[in-house]
Amino acid sequence: MPNTLGVRCVADELRVVRSADALADALADAERRALPVTVVGGGSNLVLPARLPGLVLLLRLRGMTFERLDATAWRVTAAAGETWHELVRASLGRGIRGLENLALIPGSVGAAPVQNIGAYGRELAQVLETVTVFDRRRGAFRSLATHECGLTYRDSRFRGDPGRFVIVGVTLRLGDAALATGYPDIRRELAGWPPRRVDATAVAEAVVRVRRRKLPDPRRIGNVGSFFKNPVVTPAKLASIRERVDVDAFPAQDRPGHFKISAARLIDAAGWKGVRRGPMQVWPRQPLVLVNRGGATGADALALADAIRDDLHHKYGVELELEPARP
Ligand code: NAP
Repeated sequence: MPNTLGVRCVADELRVVRSADALADALADAERRALPVTVVGGGSNLVLPARLPGLVLLLRLRGMTFERLDATAWRVTAAAGETWHELVRASLGRGIRGLENLALIPGSVGAAPVQNIGAYGRELAQVLETVTVFDRRRGAFRSLATHECGLTYRDSRFRGDPGRFVIVGVTLRLGDAALATGYPDIRRELAGWPPRRVDATAVAEAVVRVRRRKLPDPRRIGNVGSFFKNPVVTPAKLASIRERVDVDAFPAQDRPGHFKISAARLIDAAGWKGVRRGPMQVWPRQPLVLVNRGGATGADALALADAIRDDLHHKYGVELELEPARP
């Protein structure tokens, strides 16, 4: 089974799905045979077990369309099997802005709404219009508007109810939003640029440079990006954490009165940067990322994640949540 963490996983039965009809047929077949179904896109946010029972569907539906709505706005559709970064490049290549901060995020278009992907102050929810799904409960394709997708911070209805919907495509509205260059790394990267030359492509290039510097390339070193979500805490909890560690805090978007704090900062302060446990390691340049140094299993990755979670619970009273899916 292909996966960017690079762990060995054998599926009982695996089918590559290239069309909506083939998907409907495969799901009907699994239902007749009472098989569990796992849907996989790019395999970049998955911690897999050694064996996956039932039917695994590798979604490879392709296609993108770009429809001009007015002087600035575009409606962009993309099928679930397209590579996310190719969609970013294709829209920027047509002079359409909106996805520049989300450049180089690994994975497929179909995975983007599941996690409500976000980076550098932008998230999918800000540009998403609809998600086309196969609703297994109704046995039919349907379109879900953004407000029906339950998109919150790196989370969605699709994660909460993983068996029900198979995402086959997304529709985005791009071109309206101002550039977002406020994150410290991006600001620093663009500092020497004349402001009039800072356009969406320049922001995307800055994001790509920063990501290449800080994050391991999954084609060379197995990883799933961030292994943990940033915790959201009450003001009282923040005050107690700050007695032990100096940490930035940002108002939480979805939870008024709460604060988002950097999990990377806490993991670093607790001494985990670069630590190895068997074949797994905490990436020295970004401790949210756990890397497979060779031969790790999904269980090895989860064991290191659990050790970090236990330690942060013990040291700071913070509960870290895992970000990747674990089928
Ligand atoms: P960073 O710039 O070192 O910042 C550390 C944390 O502080 C980030 O997680 C970010 O939250 C938060 N932060 C910084 N400036 C902020 C601001 N102006 N307003 C609100 N929050 C702010 O972060 P990093 O670890 O290098 O990551 C850079 C961006 O890429 C982040 O947005 C991160 O989420 C994203 N990323 C995601 C993954 C993934 O696998 N999910 C992997 C790598 C990077 P947010 O995380 O909420 O932005």
